[in-house]
Parts: sequence; C-alpha cells; structure tokens
Amino acid sequence: MNYQRSSALFAEAESVIPGGVNSPVRAFKAVGGTPIFIEKAQGAYLYDADGNTYIDYINSWGPMILGHAYKPVVDAVVEKAKKGTSFGTPTEIETRIAELAISMVPNIDKIRFVNSGTEACMSAVRLARGFTGKEKIIKFAGCYHGHSDSFLIQAGSGAVTFGTPNSPGVTQGTAKDTLLATYNDIENVKDIINANRNEIACIILEPVAGNMGCIPPKSGFLEDLRALCDANDILLVFDEVMTGFRLAKGGAQERYNIKADIVCFGKVIGGGLPVGAFAARNEIMNYLAPVGPVYQAGTLSGNPLAMAAGLAMLEELNKDSDIYDRLENKTKYLHEGIQKVLIENNITHTINRVGSMISVHFSDIEIVDFQSSATGNNESFKKFFHGMLNEGVYIAPSAFETWFVTEALTYDDLDKTIEAVNTVSKSL
Ligand SMILES: *Cc1c(COP(=O)(O)O)cnc(C)c1O
Repeated sequence: MNYQRSSALFAEAESVIPGGVNSPVRAFKAVGGTPIFIEKAQGAYLYDADGNTYIDYINSWGPMILGHAYKPVVDAVVEKAKKGTSFGTPTEIETRIAELAISMVPNIDKIRFVNSGTEACMSAVRLARGFTGKEKIIKFAGCYHGHSDSFLIQAGSGAVTFGTPNSPGVTQGTAKDTLLATYNDIENVKDIINANRNEIACIILEPVAGNMGCIPPKSGFLEDLRALCDANDILLVFDEVMTGFRLAKGGAQERYNIKADIVCFGKVIGGGLPVGAFAARNEIMNYLAPVGPVYQAGTLSGNPLAMAAGLAMLEELNKDSDIYDRLENKTKYLHEGIQKVLIENNITHTINRVGSMISVHFSDIEIVDFQSSATGNNESFKKFFHGMLNEGVYIAPSAFETWFVTEALTYDDLDKTIEAVNTVSKSL
C-alpha cells in the first residue's frame, strides 16, 4: 500500500503537535512506521488519506460498537447542532440519557456525565475518598483508568509497598496513596489490605481487563474482591469505560452478576463523542456537589451534541435484544478462525476473548495479568501489525490492546480477516 499522503500529513503534524498526535498510542511508537491519517469511516471500514481501505478493529478504541457513521447517531448529532452546541444550563436530554443508562445498568440510582473516561475515573476516586473518609486506593498493574496522576503509578519495591510514579510530573506524594496489586491474584490484594488497615477508600479495576490485551477475571476473583471490600469498608469501583454497554446492557456487573459500588463509563456511552460518566447508588452519589461536599464540575459536561450521540447509541442498544449474542457469536467465529490458521502455520499464540473483546498474544502461556501479557513476542507483533495493515486490516498498533468486534462487521469481513492472518502468518 501507498502511504505517501499520510507520511506528508504526519510530517506537518509533527511540527505543531508533540509527536504529531493528540494521544500517544496513535503515533505507532510500539510498532514502528508512520501513522496512517484517516479521512472518513463508514460501517466496518476506515478510509485513509491515500485512498486505502481497511477493515477496522480499533473502532475509535471502543465507542463504535455499531460501526462508523451509524445513521441514527449521526442524525441525532446533526439535528441537535442546528439548535446550538452548548448552553451551560441544564437541558432535558441530560435527564433522558441518565434515565436510560440507569434503566440499563444494575445497582445505580444516579449518574453524573463528564467529558472522558479519564475524568470519570478520577472523579470516582475522589468520590470514594470523600465518602469513606480514607485516602489510599488499590489499582491493578496493567489496568488503565485514564491519565490522571493517581493512576500513573508503577510497582515500587516489594509487592506490598506503595507505588512510584511512572511519569515525570506525578509526585511521590500522589504515588504513595496508590497501592499496586496483581490482576487475578486475590492473595496479593489481601496482603495489601492487611498492610494498610482502615486506610483504603476503594479498589478500582477493569472487571474484564482490556488495556493489557483482553484478560478475563478468573472464576471467583470478582466475587472475592466484593467480599473483601464488604469486610473492610472499602468501595469496589468498576471501571467499565471499555466494558460498559459492550459486554451486556448492564456491562460486566450484569455479565458476572457482581455489584459494584461506583461504576465508570466512557467510550460506548458517548456514541463516538467525548463523554464519560460515573454512577452509584443514592447514598454515594448524594455526596457530590451541589448536594454533598465532594466537588466535581465541567463547563461542557452534559453537552447537547454529546448527549444526543450517547442517547441515540444507548437507545439502539437497548431496543435490540440479540445484539450482544450476535457480537459474541461473531467474535467466537473470528477467534476460532484465527486460532485454526495460527496452528496450521505453527505460530506460538494465546487468544483471549470475552464478549466482543478479543486479543491475540504471541506467547504460549496463559495470559492472566500484566506480567504474563508482557511475555508476548513484540517482534512478531510488529510484523503481524504491519502485515495485517498491508492486507487491509487495521488492528490497534500495540500488542497490549484489545480488538473490538462491531455490529457492522459481516461474516465476509471476518473471513477476509482470517485469510489475512493466514497470509501474514506465513512470514512471521
Ligand atoms: C479508555 C479507557 C479509559 C480512559 O478514557 P479516556 O476517554 O481515554 O480518558 C479509562 N478506563 C478504561 C478501562 C479505558 O479503556
């Protein structure tokens, strides 16, 4: 494929935007090469600046569960835009999307809308601290909760000690309040709680991890976390920015039948516009300003265009009783097809899948946490990524990302994808 125009656009972008991108993973640093500039998208396809077409498995990193430029969503945004794009006052549509979200998701009475998943998780943690009167939080290595300071933490020395900043600009003071645990390792969580008695406000996690590949919770892990939280007056925060409205109408809470205390949303809930949200039962949500003492605000929060896109998206998902089964069946088909050709071509691999989330790891061990995910062969992944791109299939440019299957993908698209994997495997 020819990427001439993309390369020229990237060179221009680099001179005015750091690294040429507004979010680092887009820069292709993990896979090498020049990022591709997309001009438009429709359904399951991306169209780039050089006229190349791709079957898309990034889907804006999750939001486009029904495919790109989905008509009801686009129409809702266009109609809303004609009436003014922001007022900074309450609008009716905020109540309508709140009502619908609350009716779809278990265990929440009230929801507050923000502008990104980062903001949702950051605010959820502040609320958990305010509600419990405690300061420390537990997060899991490899789980991503956006780029706010408390979450940019890596393991310190010794599993039970506090974390250290993993980005300059994050202070030691902030880092000491974030305790880092190992995903799917309940004994590790118990040790951390025991070493920090009555100091932990919340445990935050992706109930299905999606930012170190797709990693399902081991059987009993979520139940055990719930029990530990109950026994120690700790709030359980599910970051469902990726899994919310994707794994089921009610997200991972519904799929695994586990009750979280606070739930964070983003991605699908905004239908492709910048939206995040956090939600909980009344007792907790009433701690938020202006009812309660915990401050949180936003000039563009509940923006009419964003709410119109989100509402249209949730309405489509809510009225379609088979959508999640269809998505899961397609993902299973893709999994089995890819597995078959990787085996035929003698490629070492492990595939993880939950619902419409799937990841291919070039490793033969079970991928259950960050450490096991990091064993994947990155040289193979780089070749695989560029090979797939050349075959017209766009997967995320990092081995730690999940592929998203959408309603817009046909079985013919899936067959083409499997055939592309077969072709690329021969040169791995
Ligand atoms: C994408 C993501 C976020 C961050 O959301 P942004 O909208 O990028 O700020 C947080 N948590 C999870 C689980 C995510 O996948």
